[in-house]
Amino acid sequence: MSLVTRNTALVLYGVLLVLPTFVLGGLHWYQLVREHQVEVAAVPTETNDAARRLSDALERRLADLLERESQRPFYHYKRAYFPPGTAGTDLAFVPSPLVRGRPPEGILAWFAYERPQGPKFGPKVEPQIFGGSREGSDAWQAQAQGLLATTQQIAARDWAEGFVRRMMRLHSVRAEPLELPVAAINISPEEDVGCLRQELPKLQRLATESLQVTTWGFHVRFYRDQVGTPRIHASRSVTVDPTKKLDDMPECFANLGRGASFVQGFYIDPAWLFGELPQALSTQVLDVSQVFLPAGSAEPPPSAELQTVSIRPVKELRFETYQPEDLDYGLMRIAVDTRDLEARFRSQSLHFLGVTAMLVLSLGTGMMLLLRSVRRDLEAARRTENFVAAITHELRTPLSAIRLYGEMLEDGWVDADASKRAEYYRRIVRETGRLETLVERVLEKSQIAAGSARPEPGDLNRVIEGLRGALCAADEARGEHDLEIALDPALPPVMLIADSVRSIVTNLVENARKYAPVDLSRPGAEPIRVVTRTLGRDVVLEVVDRGPGIPAAERARVFEAFYRVGNETTRTARGTGLGLHLVALQSEAMGARVQVLDRLGGGTVFRVTFRPAEGGEAVPAALADAGA
Ligand code: ADP
Repeated sequence: MSLVTRNTALVLYGVLLVLPTFVLGGLHWYQLVREHQVEVAAVPTETNDAARRLSDALERRLADLLERESQRPFYHYKRAYFPPGTAGTDLAFVPSPLVRGRPPEGILAWFAYERPQGPKFGPKVEPQIFGGSREGSDAWQAQAQGLLATTQQIAARDWAEGFVRRMMRLHSVRAEPLELPVAAINISPEEDVGCLRQELPKLQRLATESLQVTTWGFHVRFYRDQVGTPRIHASRSVTVDPTKKLDDMPECFANLGRGASFVQGFYIDPAWLFGELPQALSTQVLDVSQVFLPAGSAEPPPSAELQTVSIRPVKELRFETYQPEDLDYGLMRIAVDTRDLEARFRSQSLHFLGVTAMLVLSLGTGMMLLLRSVRRDLEAARRTENFVAAITHELRTPLSAIRLYGEMLEDGWVDADASKRAEYYRRIVRETGRLETLVERVLEKSQIAAGSARPEPGDLNRVIEGLRGALCAADEARGEHDLEIALDPALPPVMLIADSVRSIVTNLVENARKYAPVDLSRPGAEPIRVVTRTLGRDVVLEVVDRGPGIPAAERARVFEAFYRVGNETTRTARGTGLGLHLVALQSEAMGARVQVLDRLGGGTVFRVTFRPAEGGEAVPAALADAGA
């Protein structure tokens, strides 16, 4: 039964607490590891995505810039121009935005030149460079010189490449009509203002006429000059169709009749496109775990934890280049340090392990407490069961004997034999005595539980002396002296309850006689001893015997109620398991402490240590522990 109950408790505990905890813990751990693996596996994809986002953003910003510049009318590429709709009696030129005002962000300068045609056939061009408000700065002259040289070099290259290659660069064409006078005035070289003014009436007659102006989209190239200065050159072609209407015009408009072709464009600041702009964009498009390494920063050392993706802006923005290595110019990187991920995973694991350890600890403690309580309950049930079995047995034996002898006497079986009759009466009286003891012990136990008596200062020896007659009566009747009482006459007073002391001594002596009987026929047999003495500062009462002793494992338990060493069937001596329990209860009632000790040379020592009487004198120093 006990095994079944304990197993049921364990199974319930396991099913309701331990199993769900382990299953949930296991799932949580699995999820933790899985999430970490997914995160680590996603790093390369996420880094590539981030690089794409960044180069897309860069491309969009460049497209915006080109789009804005493509809206600029071709006649802005002059120092002063003649705005449409103002052709009146005089010529009013307006300064171009390319020579005043701040250039838009990212633009270094503009350039424009007439594409050589007809008799001017040849590679040599005379570009004009415009720097907006920058033209006033000290560095401008040198800068403009450099840009002029680059523009000429690129023009020369274009010329050398030939017509077909040049045509391939033309895309997204836009054709618009423009009032003829405006086109004529803006296309003429500026120096001829005098001529223009003079011939204005002639032009005004053609005011309703218009010319077709064709503007091509910007083509961007990356170029490095002889000294390696990087240039981002965006250029477009603008052509004006030839017209017969201007054939008979004065010299200053004569060019126009043959049509015109210009190359216009601007230089993008590489420091802006490859530096400031991506740096600014990176803060918008990158995750916190991704680090932007700008162009020109050192390549990070290769390592398993650091994953990098490169962005080649020249290549990705599809700029035309002249050298293969130009494609790598402005290379920037996005780096992800997976050590952060690992560190996070480690701290999460530690946290999880901490919680697990705590759970295991509390579950283990719970399991232990549960087991202990189940065991204690089972033990109590077992003891009660033992008690019922023992008491039934103890009751039945004397009762059967009394009945047997009573019936034999009643039926007149021993009428003839007076001595037998006397013997039977004696047996009836003895068995009745045993019954009485049993009942008394049960009563005594309930009395102690009620706790009516209080310990008082008293003389231990006197109480024991008073018992001498009762303890030795049996000896004397048998003529055997199996008990020796040795009392220390210098014993200080102790806190005691006389009835309790009597009960203790009687019980212990009875037990000794029962479990360690003295074989007086054997030479040198030692009697059972009842001793009082001082031990250090304490007063002790000891009952010692030369019996089999009590196994160490049982010592703590013999004082429990109904506890008997061994099991009920193997025990030969009669008992209830109440004797030592009463001893312990009585000691406790007096504030004394009872112990069972091994005796040197075999046997048992039961020692009761008393509390000194309150206000009593000091006890002499320790004496040798001769008995134990
Ligand atoms: P009972 O004597 O009724 O069985 P007790 O409470 O008096 O119950 O004793 C408990 C157990 O302690 C006994 O069953 C016995 O095995 C053991 N015991 C008690 N006194 C002694 C002793 N002096 N020597 C050996 N064993 C003892």
